[in-house]
Amino acid sequence: MSPLKNFGYRTAESGYRLYIELIDLLRCPRDHEESWLVAAFHKMEGRFVIEGRLGCPLCSGSYEISGGIAYLRDATASDSPSLEPGQSRETEDEAMRIAAMLGLIKPAAVAVLVGMDADIAGEVSELSNARIVSLNSTSVQSRERENVAAVMSGARFPFAAASVDGVMLERGSSASVVAECVRVLRTGGRLVADASLSLAGNLRELARDERYVVAEFTGPLLSLTR
Ligand SMILES: [Zn+2]
Repeated sequence: MSPLKNFGYRTAESGYRLYIELIDLLRCPRDHEESWLVAAFHKMEGRFVIEGRLGCPLCSGSYEISGGIAYLRDATASDSPSLEPGQSRETEDEAMRIAAMLGLIKPAAVAVLVGMDADIAGEVSELSNARIVSLNSTSVQSRERENVAAVMSGARFPFAAASVDGVMLERGSSASVVAECVRVLRTGGRLVADASLSLAGNLRELARDERYVVAEFTGPLLSLTR
């Protein structure tokens, strides 16, 4: 019997339901190295996911779970479910891509979004359950979000060394800003930046597309390594 047999099933009352454990086995359908997917659940029934979204941390693909069915194919407008009233699909989609690129799967992960729209930061926090610091945000949140803090600063990041799991930089960030990222990132933390940014030696490129490069911080450079 297939071990997957009980993961998703159908009942007359509720339609399909996706067993939450299956999420660990799902992979992005695109042709690249395997990776777990970032998951955000909007509606659950016990251990089953009815509505949600999956994001690929490698290619930033964003996939819907709708009516208990995981649509692991490149999304088109026609097969996407409707969202809550007032919630913009573009905002949620962009937020999921950011959460995926930042690899925010750890409970209570902390990420810093630099110079971005505050509502995107709010969406990222809700999709990932991460705590988000909206640093030097370009706007004010349109509604209160428990897991988003707004911080304003100058060139230096006002955070402890090795304290954050991910940083997303705005376009046009300088090399000194990248050095700040390296200082505040934990080993294994991620930097997401404009694709034109050149990466330092302890930032290992994981993925890139025409807009963004995703890198992992491999830890402080030590003389004994390599
Ligand atoms: Zn992918």
